Amino acid sequence: MKQYDLVVIGSGSGLMVLEAALGHGLRCAIVEKAKFGGTCLTKGCIPSKMLVYPADFIREAEMSERFGVKVERPQVDWNTISKRMWEQIDFTKKIRQYLTQQPNLDIYCGRGSFTGPHTMSIRHDDGAEDEEIHGENFVIAAGARSFVPEIDGLNDAGYLTTERFFGDKFPNKLWGHLAIVGGGPVSMEFAHFLSAYGVKITVVERADRILEKEEEEISEFVAGQFVKNGVEILTGCKTTSARTENGKKLLSVESSHGGARTVMCDEILIAAGVRSNADTLSMEKAGIALDPRGWIPTNEYLETSQPHIYALGDINGKYQFRHKANYEAQILANNLFKANEKTAVDYNTVPWAIFTNPQVAHVGMTERELQEKGIAYRSAKNHYSEVVAGRAMGYRAGDGDDGFVKMLAGENAQILGAHIVGAQAAVLLQPFVYLMQTGYHCKNKLERSKTELHMECLKLICPQIGGYASILDSMIIHPSLNELTAWVFEKLEQ
Ligand SMILES: Cc1cc2nc3c(=O)[nH]c(=O)nc-3n(C[C@H](O)[C@H](O)[C@H](O)COP(=O)(O)OP(=O)(O)OC[C@H]3O[C@@H](n4cnc5c(N)ncnc54)[C@H](O)[C@@H]3O)c2cc1C
Repeated sequence: MKQYDLVVIGSGSGLMVLEAALGHGLRCAIVEKAKFGGTCLTKGCIPSKMLVYPADFIREAEMSERFGVKVERPQVDWNTISKRMWEQIDFTKKIRQYLTQQPNLDIYCGRGSFTGPHTMSIRHDDGAEDEEIHGENFVIAAGARSFVPEIDGLNDAGYLTTERFFGDKFPNKLWGHLAIVGGGPVSMEFAHFLSAYGVKITVVERADRILEKEEEEISEFVAGQFVKNGVEILTGCKTTSARTENGKKLLSVESSHGGARTVMCDEILIAAGVRSNADTLSMEKAGIALDPRGWIPTNEYLETSQPHIYALGDINGKYQFRHKANYEAQILANNLFKANEKTAVDYNTVPWAIFTNPQVAHVGMTERELQEKGIAYRSAKNHYSEVVAGRAMGYRAGDGDDGFVKMLAGENAQILGAHIVGAQAAVLLQPFVYLMQTGYHCKNKLERSKTELHMECLKLICPQIGGYASILDSMIIHPSLNELTAWVFEKLEQ
């Protein structure tokens, strides 16, 4: 049986830890059952954004008449759009090639599952006999896959998931009408780009609103824009069955408020969240119990209940974004190979963006979360139409697409939550992540130091840490959208 210092399962963010281990001369194995690069590169963030950008362009062109530029409805060249997308996915080949050149590394293409706390069996893709390997340490970065809800007749009717869409079922020609089950970030991004390309979209969501994790007013705002663009959104609706008839697919939908209807479409996309890949790993043989939802529990050092097995990324069930997975991989690599002192992961400032049109960006708590936790806060809002840059882009007060920033702040001008809906929301949000991070970073340090004197000194030196005071004291480039996010604090001060 081959022996390794480190076995990494999953070639998404797991590759970052693998590289660090190889850099330290460890003998390593990587186990991957699909394309190298993981979900983000081969069937997630990256290919989807290659489809989002042209769609954004179409939506922007549609509003250009407001500032005096008339454009014909843009013609979509699906072949070119797809080709650009596949070029990104094909980066997987470069990763594979790079890995094959690494000394001290064995590559296993197949599904790994534990046979004991230190042993793993690999079922090879090419049908070769299963192979067992031994690892001193394991990093599980095996991610998640689409969750497919129980819907009568769905298998017979046939359906897509994001994995199939970015895989063997990628359409050479777009459908006339697509039904999407699920109203979360991934489904709404699909609804955005496909509707911009001319596909009629019906979204069926069980909850009473799409994008449930966002501020209620942001969900409502985004839904309004989708409806304006012809997307049908059925909220509070459960998909009960699916069937085919005369070459069409039919979804039966029941509303929680009473009533039922049938959605007739050409294809069904199931994008109703994700489930853990831990069920493929026989974790019980490694002596690790999963949490009730199937995720692998980890502590602040990404350690599982087995001291030599670590888990990071989607599979630990916390904030399923690629930047969070990369952050964890970085912390783990440092803890394992560099630092004298271990660093704990800190999820206080996990930001995210939803690449719909309008974009949504989020960091910190929502107003509802603050209320539930009983935290005192003040809130203020600023609309795009309130700053020159927004007005120049065509946003007008009172219009349905006049997006906004909503800021939530607590004692000592601490930023507790920042939420943006509108053009460039992801870019506009990032400075608040930095500011909040400095605050939490210092707070953590202070709490750990337990030295009263030290704490008092730090507070005296920098009372503004983690707060927005530096924004009020700074010059803001005029006229730019930064005024949208900076001037909201003046409203908070009033
Ligand atoms: C359509 C879509 C769009 C997204 N857009 C964004 C976005 O814009 N921004 C963002 O931050 N996040 C986005 N995400 C989420 C993001 O892709 C994930 O959070 C991220 O890829 C998780 O990384 P990971 O390393 O944990 O797992 P993954 O990248 O999923 O890697 C896990 C790897 O493990 C392999 N594997 C699983 N089980 C086994 C096994 N038993 N044996 C061997 N190999 C195994 C899998 O094949 C996979 O390659 C998107 C996801 C989707 C589906």
